[in-house]
This record gives sequence, C-alpha cells and structure tokens, in this order.
Amino acid sequence: VARVRGLTKRFGDRTVLDEIDIEIARGEFVALLGRSGSGKSTLLRALAGLDRATDGEPDVSGTVSVAFQEPRLIPWKRVWANVALGLKAADPRAAAEKALAEVELTEQAGAWPLTLSGGEAQRASLARALVRDPDLLLLDEPFSALDALTRITMHRLVLDLWGRHRPGILLVTHDVDEALLLADRVLVLEDGRIGHESPVNLDRPRHRDHPELIELRATL
Ligand code: ATP
Ligand code: MG
Repeated sequence: VARVRGLTKRFGDRTVLDEIDIEIARGEFVALLGRSGSGKSTLLRALAGLDRATDGEPDVSGTVSVAFQEPRLIPWKRVWANVALGLKAADPRAAAEKALAEVELTEQAGAWPLTLSGGEAQRASLARALVRDPDLLLLDEPFSALDALTRITMHRLVLDLWGRHRPGILLVTHDVDEALLLADRVLVLEDGRIGHESPVNLDRPRHRDHPELIELRATL
C-alpha cells in the first residue's frame, strides 16, 4: 500500500531523511524505532502526504489514516464530532460513538477536546484514525501517554482492526518491547537512514511466544 524510494527531507541545510526506501505491503505491521529527533514523525508526515519531501515522493494507494504524535483535535468541535469529521457513513455520529466506546471514551463523547486528559485525547485521536477502516494506518506513538492496562486494550484494538481489514500499519514507538510484540518487521531510523531492519518473527522467539500476543492473535 505504500512505497517510497529515495525519500529525502531537508530543513535548510540539515538532512533529516537521507534517501530512504520503505515498502509497506497490505496486511503488514511495521514498527519504526529511532531516537528522539531522528525524523520518525517527519517520515510519517511525508508518507501521509502532509509534508512535501525534498526528493522522492511517496507512492501510497488507498485511504490513509494518521494518528499524530499530538492528538490535534479541533477544539471547537465536540469529541464525537472530531471523530466523525469527514466520515462517509450512513450515521457518522453513531459510527464515531461506537469507535469512542472501543477506546473507552463513551462518557467523553460529548465533551470538548480541551477538557480531556492527555491519554484521553490520544485515545480520541486513535478512534478517529481507526473509524475510517484505512488501507494504510500511520500511528505516531499513539500509546505513549497511556497506563499499562489501557495500553494493552489499545494494542488489542489495533490488532483487531488489523485482523479484520488487513491494512498496512506503520507504528512509531519508543518502546522496543511494544515494537517486538506487535510488528512483523522493525525498522530503526538512524542518521537519516534505515539503520537496522529486522523481521521480528524470524530472530525473536519472544515475539511468537509472548503470552499476550498469543492471546491477542487467538481472538482475531
Ligand atoms: P521524537 O521521537 O522526539 O518525536 P522524531 O524522530 O519524530 O522525534 P522529527 O519530529 O521527525 O523527530 O524531527 C526530526 C528533526 O527534524 C528534528 O531535529 C526536528 O527539529 C527537525 N524538524 C522537524 N520539523 C521541522 C521543521 N518544520 N523545520 C525545521 N526543522 C524541523
Ligand atoms: Mg516524533
């Protein structure tokens, strides 16, 4: 669903992304690791078509959903209306409320975004991304502000969408365990390039055998 060749992004004379090649197939779950400032969000924005690359325009097919690092909810629209925004459904409000129930925000559906906690805003943003059943799902640290239990619930939700609709997923995370747990393939962004690339299920038995993952996969 997504392919980039020679993606380069410069800010002034600083090269943040340096001729990056990435391919994400339909149904493939890819995690992207990298130090703070390594260009992960920049790469995600380029893939989403929100930011022009200096070189190497990405080729992305189908619908794309993004959950940004900052939730970016529109403050003057209620939470449900943020999730329903631009939604092509018979009843966008009902679809939004169902998605909000899945991220455990039923009570906050009618609230104003600025009254949400950090984790709640993050979950609202996740609901907005998932409700669209995208072909490519770009997630920029969507679980970082969540407690461990809520995070597991959100993992399940993302894996559930993944099992149902088989989108390609690119998940940016700082959490190596999370990357190994969820992804088929882990990329590490380093000095503007993909420094490491590992198919987790080949050399990381923890991935296959992790009880949480076995339980999650069994429900798909
Ligand atoms: P984090 O893990 O902290 O979110 P990141 O890997 O997502 O980091 P980016 O946000 O992609 O990092 O930023 C990569 C680099 O590009 C940073 O050094 C940042 O300062 C720089 N940068 C990003 N956007 C711009 C911009 N619009 N103008 C100038 N520099 C920018
Ligand atoms: Mg970032």
